[in-house]
This record gives sequence, C-alpha cells and structure tokens, in this order.
Amino acid sequence: MPTDPSARPGRRALLRTGLATGAAAAAPALPPSSPAAPVPADRVVTLTGWLPTGAPDFVLLPVEVPPGVREIAVAYDYDRPAVPPGTPGNSCDIGLFDQRGTDLGGRGFRGWSGGFRTSFSVSATAATPGYLPGPVDPGTWHVVLGPYQVAPQGLNYTVRVTLRSGAPGPAFTPHYPAERARGRGRAWYRGDCHLHTVHSDGRRLPEEVAAGARAAGLDFIVSTDHNTSSSHGVWGPLAGDDLLIVLGEEVTTRNGHWLALGLDPGQFVDWRYRSRDGQFPRFARQVRRSGGLVVPAHPYCPYVGCQWKFGHRDADAVEVWNGPWTYDDESAVDTWDAQLATALREGRDWLPAMGNSDAHSDPQPIGSPHNVVLADDLSRAAVLDGLRAGRSWLAGSAAVQLEFTATGHGRRAGIGERLTVPADAPVDVELTVSGVPGGTARLLTDEGQLHQETLPATGPATVRWRTTASLASYVRAEVRHPKPDGTPGRGNSMGPDLPWGPMAALTNPITLHAQ
Ligand SMILES: [Zn+2]
Ligand SMILES: [Zn+2]
Repeated sequence: MPTDPSARPGRRALLRTGLATGAAAAAPALPPSSPAAPVPADRVVTLTGWLPTGAPDFVLLPVEVPPGVREIAVAYDYDRPAVPPGTPGNSCDIGLFDQRGTDLGGRGFRGWSGGFRTSFSVSATAATPGYLPGPVDPGTWHVVLGPYQVAPQGLNYTVRVTLRSGAPGPAFTPHYPAERARGRGRAWYRGDCHLHTVHSDGRRLPEEVAAGARAAGLDFIVSTDHNTSSSHGVWGPLAGDDLLIVLGEEVTTRNGHWLALGLDPGQFVDWRYRSRDGQFPRFARQVRRSGGLVVPAHPYCPYVGCQWKFGHRDADAVEVWNGPWTYDDESAVDTWDAQLATALREGRDWLPAMGNSDAHSDPQPIGSPHNVVLADDLSRAAVLDGLRAGRSWLAGSAAVQLEFTATGHGRRAGIGERLTVPADAPVDVELTVSGVPGGTARLLTDEGQLHQETLPATGPATVRWRTTASLASYVRAEVRHPKPDGTPGRGNSMGPDLPWGPMAALTNPITLHAQ
C-alpha cells in the first residue's frame, strides 16, 4: 500500500493547488567595506488550494528550501463556510516534514500541532512547542495538512511559508529525564499516564504539569502529547528524586487514539493510518521493542475519530477510565470485563485496565484518575512491568486507599495475580477501602456483581466475601461514589436511571484457577 494516503493518484487529482512565491524583504544593506557574500533575502512561499469533502487524510504541500535558510516559519488559515445544523464544519490540522521525506515511520518528521496553532517555526536552536528544533537542510520539505472535517462546500486553505536566511544558531540541547527516581523499593506507586502540555493541545507548560503531579500526590507521570516527541527534551530538569517522568506519546489516528508509554528519548511514533491500512501492528511493535506499552485510550469517546477501531490483539492494557467519570467509561469497563473472561477461557494474557486524567489545561485535575502500581522500584522499566502485568488499581485521587486480596488453601494472591486452589476450596476475598465516604463497594466475577456493601461515612472499611475457583474465574472490585441524589446505587437491577454513581476506584482482577 502507499506510504501515505495522499499519494493515491485518484485523490491527488481532486486537489487544486496554487503556488506563488516572492521576496518577503529586501536583503539587508551590506556595509560598503564588507567582504562577505551578500545575505540572501528572506523568501515567502504562499500555497493555496481547495480540498473536497473526500480529501485524503493527509495532504502534502512541497516547499523547496534553498541553502542558507536559518528558520522556516509557517502560518495558515482556511475558510469556515456556514454549514447546516448537525453537519461538521471545516477543521484542518497541520505539521511539517523535512527533506528526509514523508514516508510513514520515516525520519523526516519535524512536528505536528494538530488544529491547535495557526503558526509555528523551526530552526536549529528552537522550535514552537510541538515541533523539533534541528538543522534546516536544503531540499524538498513538506507542510502536511490534515483536513479533519471538511464542509460540504469544501475547504479553501492558504499556507504562508517564510524562509528566513542566515547562519544557523547554536544547536538545541535536549535534557531528557532520568529513568529512575528514588522510590521506596518494591511498593505501590501512583502515576498518571496520560497528560498533555503546550507541546500539543494543552495549555499547561511542562513545569506546570510537573508541579501539578507533585501536588496530586503522584510518584510518576507519563508525558503523552499528541503525535510528537517535542516535549521529551524539556522534562529533564522537571523530574527529580520524588517524581519519575516517563516519555510517551498519544498516537492520535483517525480511528482512535493510543498511548505509547515508555518511549526512548526522542522516539516518535507515526499516527498516519487507519484501521483498514493494516499499519497499526507495525507501530505497536516499534513501541514494544523500546520496552513500552501500547494502550488504547478512551475507546468509546464520542468525538470524531476518537473511538477505538484497531481491536485489542496488539494492546498491552486499555484505558477504561479517562478523566471525569462519564458514560463512555461505563462502556469501556463493560467491554474490558467481557474480555477478561474470554482471555481466561482461551488461556491468553488478559488485558489490564488503566485510568488516566488526560488533563490538558486548568481546571482539569492532574491525577484524576491515576494508576496505583506495585513495582519493584520507581523506574521506567519497573513501573511499566507492573502496569503490563496488571498489578495495579485505578484511583480517583490520592485520597483513595485500597487493598484487595484473595486467600485460599493456604495461598494468597493480590491484584493482578493468580490464585491456584482446589476447585471447591473456599477462597476468602477481602477488600479494604478508605477515602470514599458513603460509597459502595462492589465485588464482581465473570457472573457479574455478586456482592455489594455500603461504606461508612468516615474511616476505612473492610469487605469480606467467600467464593471458590469453581464459581469464579476471576474476582475484581469497584468502589463507587454515592449517586447525585445521595443514594448508594443498586446492583443487579434495571431501570431508567444509571445504577451507579461515579467510579472512585477499580481494581484489576485476581484470577482463580482450579488445581
Ligand atoms: Zn485522545
Ligand atoms: Zn489525550
């Protein structure tokens, strides 16, 4: 298949693209005695065109960059004609690839700002957040448009590229974060693995995200800006003994978003494919080769392009709780729960659940929710190992504390672990929770909810329940806040209202196996 959908001749023929160039400014006057060669003038290249509703996902606009260019600055605009109610209006993303090319997974990527910015620049010394500083080498560069939504009338765009002449400035020096923080040895560590900054469509600076993570009581975060690695080189001084910062990316395709968690410094993961293109497994492998995790994000988010359409075969975990608890999270938990039973029946690894804030800007709270992971150490590798194994539970905030075990036949297992016992041996399940006043503890197996208990208004509570490996292939716990009317909710019932209040905590399962 073509490396980029826009390369299909049938699609390209639909595009009407105009191009005009001109000198933006006269060359500065040289002092009469200067022996230096004349400084070439800055040049402006203006690219205009029209895209139909059937435009390709990515439209490549070539720009010839001559020698001696110090900085490339791009500004763009497009029309927004009135559309009938319920019809998407125009929305167009933008990014930049250098002379190394636009091949999928190639080396030419220089940045992406989605629809968040109308202008950006790149030089050896600096770049607009979302873009990569580095050499401005001569050759054919490409501005890439991503017409995300196109009105029935089509989309008229204007892209103005300014090629600023001069000697390159000093090279940008990235400062990557350490792969280990001080930690407490093998312990439970709290971390939010889905966070945005000004390097994509967030309004928080990286330093504000790091401060917010500390204020939320987190031990680690993963940086996941959309479709760029540009923040990786700024996190170094913001990490510390008390805060591990792991590098990542939110890979934002048109068929769903996935978190690439635990990337190598500067590693970029391409996003320019749909489910039908068959490219996702290749990029999942790329992330795994670096020791990272592949995690479908907010799989039922109703926004355009946000629902997960790539299946779960190449996933290491799934984000079932994204930001404030909403109805799409209920769907994600239901699907995840159904997959647990299927995986256990087929003897496959089950898919761990994750919860992350996806916080972009104030007042979206960092760490609500987050993962509490049993890890050997507070290091990139150990934390990712814990998440991969499902030795984790999801917390609405650091105020929520939880312990969950199953004991039988003289053996004991915790969250994400297996308990192997004689089929009919009693298995005692114990859940201890605090920080959810008046909440409801639910114990669920492959049969659904089998136990429910209301928590006290203050202090910790311990819920005990007995089962066997013959009755349950797994057991997991949920803790819900009271419903908006103050009632606890009622399991195993149906009615017009949602049966439960918002999630306060959710565990990965303990699996039960008959000897
Ligand atoms: Zn997303
Ligand atoms: Zn996100």
